[in-house]
Amino acid sequence: MSVSDLMCPSSHPSVEGCQVIGIVERGDGGPEVAYLNEHIAATPEVLDLAGPANPGEVFRLAAPCQTRTCPHFDGGACGLITSIVKTLAPVVDALPPCLIRKECRWFHQEGAAACHRCPQVVTVNRPATPKAAEPAAQRQGV
Ligand code: SF4
Repeated sequence: MSVSDLMCPSSHPSVEGCQVIGIVERGDGGPEVAYLNEHIAATPEVLDLAGPANPGEVFRLAAPCQTRTCPHFDGGACGLITSIVKTLAPVVDALPPCLIRKECRWFHQEGAAACHRCPQVVTVNRPATPKAAEPAAQRQGV
C-alpha cells in the first residue's frame, strides 16, 4: 500500500494517524466547519464524544492520504477535491485558520480554491439534512 506524506482532510476514524481538524456546526445555512487551533488525535475517547452520531457527521478528520486504496484517487490526484472545486461555490473569502494546510492534499492540488469551499464539506451527512439531497460526490469525503 502506498500512503502519501500529504493529509486527506476528509478521512475516516479507522485510518492510522487520524486527527480531528474541525467540528461541524449545523445552522440554518447548512453545515459549517469550525477549525481547531490545536492538534487533537482521533482517539477512541475523542470519537466517542460524537455519539450517538457517526464521528464523520460531527468531526472533520484528517489522516495520511491513502492514495491507491481510496476510490477518489486517480493515480496522481484526488478527484474529490477536483469535483468540489468545480461544483460547489466558495463559502468563505479568506483561508480558514487550518492547522494542516502545509500538508493538505486538497490545498496542494487546488490551492485557495479548496480552502474557500472546505468549510461546507461534511464527510458523513445526515440523511435528513437538505444538503444530503445533493449529489454525494459534492458533499461527502472518502
Ligand atoms: S482544504 Fe484548506 S481549509 Fe480544508 S483542510 Fe485543506 S488546508 Fe485546511
